[in-house]
Amino acid sequence: ETDLSADDSDIRIRIEDLQKTFANGTVIAAENIDLDIEDDDFVVLLGPSGCGKTTTLRCIAGLEEPDSGTIFIDDEDVTYKKPKDHNLAFVFQQIALFPHMSVRRNIRFGLDMNTDLSSKEKRERVEEVADLLGIRDLLDRSPSALSGGQQQRVSLGRAMVMEPAAFLLDEPFSALDANLRDQMQTEIKKLHQSLGTAMVFVTHDQEEAMTLGNKIVVMNDGQIQQIGSPYEIYNEPTSKFVAEFIGSPSTNMFDCMVQAGKEGVTLRSDTFELHLDERRADAFDGMDGNSVTLGIRPEYLEVDASDPLFEATVDVIEPQGKSDAVHLSVGDVGIVASVTQGRIGRNRERTSIAFDRDELWVFDESGSRLL
Ligand code: ATP
Repeated sequence: ETDLSADDSDIRIRIEDLQKTFANGTVIAAENIDLDIEDDDFVVLLGPSGCGKTTTLRCIAGLEEPDSGTIFIDDEDVTYKKPKDHNLAFVFQQIALFPHMSVRRNIRFGLDMNTDLSSKEKRERVEEVADLLGIRDLLDRSPSALSGGQQQRVSLGRAMVMEPAAFLLDEPFSALDANLRDQMQTEIKKLHQSLGTAMVFVTHDQEEAMTLGNKIVVMNDGQIQQIGSPYEIYNEPTSKFVAEFIGSPSTNMFDCMVQAGKEGVTLRSDTFELHLDERRADAFDGMDGNSVTLGIRPEYLEVDASDPLFEATVDVIEPQGKSDAVHLSVGDVGIVASVTQGRIGRNRERTSIAFDRDELWVFDESGSRLL
């Protein structure tokens, strides 16, 4: 989607048609990557292992030379420039603090190496950053005397003192336990709001992506599948891949055959026949006899339906707080419905299923969304 209010001057980082291969071109790690990043963007690169997130981030940082394409930072082409000329801060999953230096010296390190600031200026900047991160009282400790979360805050502090054009973060919280991770997610989001500096964050965890990003870049096989807000990628996926990858429990998918006639379209699967009215038949123009996939999120499966499409066997029920995930089977197809807590009792064996017809998606054989 394009933001019409954005003129080029708002763009901090621009990636144009980036391509990067490895192993003499046999492994395509990233291709056709186009992305604009503004200061108030919290961009999350999201996708399964090996989809090219880290490679893209490393190209932005100048740690990797692309095969082709251009990276602009503040309108300057930095594609083949050294990492330090990119003026970006990189925070890794592995925390790499200097063990023999105090927290204060760890944070100050980049300033000592790369700037001519006076001691007073450096001290002030370190303390300002420590205040923002809530680690002021840890400044004189050694890194070994810190918890994992505190250490990761110090890593962030080291990045922040350099006042970079943007922060690049590669799974920075994945080694932390769940509670600490939640806490750090809230903190990084607050930090982004108060600093107003762009963040580009890599994760394979869709919940983390939804929590953090205003702009989520879903990747698969080295390519961008979709760019959108958390709401857009959840509610309006443009492909089968995104519909399946985003959301937990995952979107139910049914293989169907299109039967197009005068009175609209019927989608035929092994388990049901679903008639779509004329209003929606247009999407299937010329597709009579084609294979498609119908997708529907667990919350839009109706259980105990009065006008059912088919019957299903209740396998297991997983309480998820406000709702229960009810796993069902129809023949050898597994499906899942998300229902109000306790709606389906523990001893229930069968239920009847219908779809909320306003909320279903249909994908063609290439995985593109038709409806
Ligand atoms: P993960 O979440 O597992 O880190 P990722 O999405 O970050 O995955 P990349 O690390 O960018 O994916 O890797 C993309 C592809 O490029 C993978 O197939 C990977 O094996 C390959 N690759 C990455 N770096 C190299 C390299 N230095 N040499 C050869 N192949 C590489």
